[in-house]
Amino acid sequence: MKCARGGSFSKGELQRFGNIELSPSAGVLNYGQGLFEGLKAFRKEDGNILLFRPQENALRLNIGAERMCMPSPTVAQFVEAVKATVLANKRWVPPPGKGSLYIRPLLMGSGAVLGLAPAPEYTFLIYVSPVGNYFKEGVTPINLVVEHELHRATPGGTGGVKTIGNYAAVLKAQSAAKAKGYSDVLYLDCVHKKYLEEVSSCNIFVVKDNVISTPAIKGTILPGITRKSIIDVARSQGFQVEERLVAVDELLEADEVFCTGTAVVVSPVGSITYKGRRVSYGEGGFGAVSQQLYTVLTRLQMGLIEDKMNWTAELN
Ligand code: PMP
Repeated sequence: MKCARGGSFSKGELQRFGNIELSPSAGVLNYGQGLFEGLKAFRKEDGNILLFRPQENALRLNIGAERMCMPSPTVAQFVEAVKATVLANKRWVPPPGKGSLYIRPLLMGSGAVLGLAPAPEYTFLIYVSPVGNYFKEGVTPINLVVEHELHRATPGGTGGVKTIGNYAAVLKAQSAAKAKGYSDVLYLDCVHKKYLEEVSSCNIFVVKDNVISTPAIKGTILPGITRKSIIDVARSQGFQVEERLVAVDELLEADEVFCTGTAVVVSPVGSITYKGRRVSYGEGGFGAVSQQLYTVLTRLQMGLIEDKMNWTAELN
């Protein structure tokens, strides 16, 4: 779909996956005017396909577009385009339990602009790919390292929206962590340098005495849709959940730590290295709390339990 600045998006069309043409002075290439989303489609036992909370992705894209001075498709246009793309790629949705179809909507300033300004034209596209587990460890625990020098977001910046530049900002620390054998990086706030923010592409939760805590949304972390869903699932399962400032020192006392995201789903954290000290959790698998939440969420996403929250959209 395309639209001019200040305009609204035209109805899109399906095209084969392939390269797209962009002006060398496209806003997205020069000034990073780009946003993306990530969601998944799951195959049910009866062969039908379920999307998980696509409206939430549409709303997050709308909020991000406002921050990045971009027009965005409406929620209805977004959801309709996602459904049409998945239906056209139905055969790529893996069988039940064998993975999912990852859906990547992308909104960008595709019009040419030389001086710093919002682009004159925008393109919204969606591509898909079948996926298995995000971390090579699968659902075996991941090992994180706390980053003390580099930050992915600043107050008033763009950390709270899913803009492409946020991911460029994490590549250096993430590559260094991976080269040392860690799965990913855990970021701290850049003002006090002592409160947990998030991992490069997922949110973080800490469990102590059956109370689940997660950093509050204050503009520097991405409001994850899995995070929001896990908070609701946990509360519906009787857990106390606190969204607040979570100090890095709380990692030393935690019973369990886990990450959430569309790609990582719910991943147990096996260790966190913090100022050279390695704190370990669990015995090589899920802790009791993350196991329970993972089971409920994935069963819901795959249509194996009743969707009382009305989170899934069925395609056939
Ligand atoms: N934080 C960041 C920085 C992310 O890229 C993601 C993945 N979208 C998340 C958190 C988790 O968000 P969601 O649960 O919506 O995938």
